[in-house]
Amino acid sequence: NLYSLFQQTFSQQPDAVAVETEDGRTWTFGELEAHSARMANWLTTLGLQPGDRVMVQVEKSVPALVLYLACLRAGVVYVPLNVAYQAAELAYFMENAEPRLVVGDPAKHDVLRELTQRLGVAHLATMDASGQGSAWTDAQNHAAQHRVAAVAGSDVAAILYTSGTTGRSKGAQLTHDNLASNVQTLHRYWGWQPDDVLIHALPIFHVHGLFVAAHLALLNGSPMLWMARFTPAQVLQWLPRATVFMGVPTLYVRLLQEPALSPAVCARMRLFISGSAPLLTETFHAWQARTGHTILERYGMSETLMLTSNPYDPAEGPRLAGTVGRPLPGVQVRVVNESGTVCATGDIGGVEVRGPNVFPGYWRMPDVNAKEFTPDGWFRTGDMGFVDAQGYLTLVGRSKDLIITGGYNVYPAEVESYLNELEGVEESAVIGCPHPDLGEGVVAVVVARPGATLDPDALLAAVKNRIAGFKVPKRLFVVDQLPRNVMGKVQKNLLRQRYADAFR
Ligand code: ATP
Ligand code: MG
Repeated sequence: NLYSLFQQTFSQQPDAVAVETEDGRTWTFGELEAHSARMANWLTTLGLQPGDRVMVQVEKSVPALVLYLACLRAGVVYVPLNVAYQAAELAYFMENAEPRLVVGDPAKHDVLRELTQRLGVAHLATMDASGQGSAWTDAQNHAAQHRVAAVAGSDVAAILYTSGTTGRSKGAQLTHDNLASNVQTLHRYWGWQPDDVLIHALPIFHVHGLFVAAHLALLNGSPMLWMARFTPAQVLQWLPRATVFMGVPTLYVRLLQEPALSPAVCARMRLFISGSAPLLTETFHAWQARTGHTILERYGMSETLMLTSNPYDPAEGPRLAGTVGRPLPGVQVRVVNESGTVCATGDIGGVEVRGPNVFPGYWRMPDVNAKEFTPDGWFRTGDMGFVDAQGYLTLVGRSKDLIITGGYNVYPAEVESYLNELEGVEESAVIGCPHPDLGEGVVAVVVARPGATLDPDALLAAVKNRIAGFKVPKRLFVVDQLPRNVMGKVQKNLLRQRYADAFR
């Protein structure tokens, strides 16, 4: 049971601070242990059996973290949901996961009650943004001692729905072994220290915030400076006390807009980590210039947890902007062409992975599972990339976003990187749209920097000199912003819909 791993750390330092919230309130490791025991006992008395699903859609709070730990301890399957999801989405997830218990925000109680009744979910409990509600209150009636449920390493600990960037979210089943192996690998590889302090600024319903950030601090016994929602001001206030920060690229972009960001406020910092979406090389360099620190970019996904990382130890090589580094210890990564043959160094293909971190399959999707695993057990990530002579992986986009124009492959990330370098360009997205002669035509959607005015023809003329003609966008649209999903990922499927008639 993954919880036993954390429990070892907790029992060594029950009085040390595990979490500190924005209002200055602290929670010790002993409190996490006691409260998660109470909550696990509550789950058990509700009649939940190992393997039963507990669906949780609540704001980020310490009791929400306790609820996750309680699910681990009780051996039930934790199914977190993005707080942004509304009725129609909730219905899909609930029908798909068939939870036995739903814990939701009282603000959504009417919707949740209707759904749980209609779908025959046995129990509904509440937890509000401060962590109060029936789940917490009921748990207080139970003992603070609880024997951690015996589970097999191959038992599912959580089902994590993918971000839904390319289509409908799929439930990735993650086992106790998947989670334990990945957190132990990252703990060693990123050199966790006894005096580390983590700024926890990410939501806890996805891999980055829960299975990377929170897991590492819990395993290491480090305090988490815990903010319910990311604000640059709060991060700046905490930075002088912290040693580790993890963020998605947009968090770095927003922090760079703060005049107070300086090497001085980062004096204790040991490590800045970025992932979940591509970090622009410009952000990477701006961060170096402003703080003196080199962001470590890593790559992972709901189905596999963390896969690759730029080096932590300088002796293993530099952290290279635009790359996601090398496979983590124990993780195998290969790039293959359409016929399944491993590509030569530098050649682009589909990224496939294998290792103790890779999930056993999607929940209730046998057809997808049959397609996305190779006969020899490699998982097809759906990402495309290439490996360089130093073994670093560079991602060039998702296979679903690959553009084939007049028989030539165009990788969106490459074209975007040229566009992003142009004067006045904030960011860009390159997509393929139906074209009468070419099959697909390359289309660029570009966002201007604040105050800049962009001339599409001038931008296209500027890229024409730098890349092969077939890669140059045939149409370029300037927009105020790119459509992003709640995880901050650009939704190219929406862009393809919007510009479907670009060549008609
Ligand atoms: P869905 O699978 O539902 O379409 P999703 O793939 O966005 O959604 P996640 O599992 O949250 O859902 O995200 C994993 C994906 O995020 C990876 O497959 C990859 O495309 C992208 N990603 C993660 N880290 C990085 C990174 N450092 N650079 C570029 N892309 C990244
Ligand atoms: Mg995906």
